[in-house]
Amino acid sequence: MAENIAPTTETAPADVAVVGAGPAGLSAAVVAAEHGLQVVLIDAGHQTGGQYWRHPDERHRDSFAAPESTGHHHWRHYTDLRDRLAAAVASGRLRHLAGRQVWRTDGYGDRVALRTSAVTGVDTLPRAERTTWARRLVIATGAYDRQLPVPGWTLPGVMAAGGVQAMLKANQVRAGRRAVVAGTGPFLLSVAAGLAEAGVEVVEVVDANALTRWAATPLRALQEPGKLWEGVGYAGTFLRHRVPLRTRTVISAVRGSGRVSEVELSRVDGEGRIRPGSSRTVAADLVAFGWGFTPQLELAVGLGLRTRIDVDGSLVIDVDDDLRASDPLVFAAGEVTGIGGAIASCAEGELAGSAVARDLGAPTDARTMARHRRRLQRGRRFAIGMHRASPVPAAWDQWLTPETHICRCEEVTAAEVTDAVDGLRADDARDVRVTARPGMGLCQGRVCGFALSKLVATGTGGDVDAAALESLTNRQVGVPVSLGDLASLVPHHPNQEES
Ligand SMILES: Cc1cc2nc3c(=O)[nH]c(=O)nc-3n(C[C@H](O)[C@H](O)[C@H](O)COP(=O)(O)OP(=O)(O)OC[C@H]3O[C@@H](n4cnc5c(N)ncnc54)[C@H](O)[C@@H]3O)c2cc1C
Repeated sequence: MAENIAPTTETAPADVAVVGAGPAGLSAAVVAAEHGLQVVLIDAGHQTGGQYWRHPDERHRDSFAAPESTGHHHWRHYTDLRDRLAAAVASGRLRHLAGRQVWRTDGYGDRVALRTSAVTGVDTLPRAERTTWARRLVIATGAYDRQLPVPGWTLPGVMAAGGVQAMLKANQVRAGRRAVVAGTGPFLLSVAAGLAEAGVEVVEVVDANALTRWAATPLRALQEPGKLWEGVGYAGTFLRHRVPLRTRTVISAVRGSGRVSEVELSRVDGEGRIRPGSSRTVAADLVAFGWGFTPQLELAVGLGLRTRIDVDGSLVIDVDDDLRASDPLVFAAGEVTGIGGAIASCAEGELAGSAVARDLGAPTDARTMARHRRRLQRGRRFAIGMHRASPVPAAWDQWLTPETHICRCEEVTAAEVTDAVDGLRADDARDVRVTARPGMGLCQGRVCGFALSKLVATGTGGDVDAAALESLTNRQVGVPVSLGDLASLVPHHPNQEES
């Protein structure tokens, strides 16, 4: 194994680089270091924890309530991982590059190169150290909120449920005073309960699906008893704060002058078709939409890893039982292999850390790995049940009007997407992108990609397949970078001599 951890070079790579310090990446990095590997852990965040354990800046502890008193679940699991991370750093086996984003990964024979830049844009690392070299890579880049367009969704005051949650968790800031939480799935309950506990009036929580869908998969629901208890806790919060939960109901329009002031709620059938005459209006200044999550796959697709479509329609990395991807140097853990929740992500991280160690010849305990695999299988069974119980309704596109923006960056409407398919004969999402420009703006399709691919598939009579979603995910450069960083890709460029 490598003798020296920092800085890595092409000829002296780390044993493993882990991208992402959320539940999955943090677990993978700690376990790999505990097996004696030299590890580099890279995360865009300034502190570890990812989305699930997002918490206030620890340098200002006195300014915020303690995370354990503000609805952070499994907080002791996190502090245990954080202590183990600190021990691995102190032992010299792990280098934690915080506040750095990986904008590109390349394979070079038996090693990978990860190009990184500072998220602040002001990079104090010498240029030679901005590339991390490693013999193995674990991708644990997590997921972001999946969004569906609806008339009025671009008004200020309309937010992704995860964003609303992140503001509460990281800054203890309430995004509004009177909220409607809408979409589908158990995450809505977590967000609504957090808002209610923080003093926001949650007028209604509306789920597009019926809770009875869980009855179709009772055994899957029972795979994660902890989740059931979490649900019971949310029910208690809803009762205490008089938060009504309505199923088979959607927000069919958001209205307001300059910002959201009211939403139209409509009852829907099992396919998501609005029941005529069922619409009503409620006043709100905050809308939190949660339609599930989209795995963050830019690095995986950039490396050409094999992907597949998961039960919830997301593009995920295809891995084997050891979480190894189609490139034998690359492993993946957490939401990038399928949306399944934080605790399943931890189990995946632990398995990936052990599997990399075994792959590099370190002694590993077969029974512990088998335990992680069993834990993982339980998590996956639950996740499949959750996705089947909470699908995005098939007829969601019927809520759109021709003027509804599909791509908010480039302000491309539903009518323009339809014109590209019907009038210009664009026959896949990529064609529609280059003709009508949806997904060509700042977010590069991260927000509109899911909706766009569905609309195009409906228009062309095709299916959303992995190739269609890959075409919306494929980016040579994963995040915005400076021209100087780009120039560093050119061998022997004078900029590389800088320190
Ligand atoms: C906004 C949001 C809020 C959520 N809140 C909850 C919640 O309250 N409860 C719940 O049960 N689930 C929540 N989830 C679901 C949650 O993502 C997972 O259950 C869990 O956090 C997944 O763990 P993970 O390690 O796979 O990914 P994450 O926790 O998402 O961690 C991924 C990490 O990778 C880093 N990263 C990504 N790309 C790069 C890159 N190119 N370079 C460097 N670093 C990178 C990110 O900074 C992040 O820290 C939330 C999801 C989102 C998107």
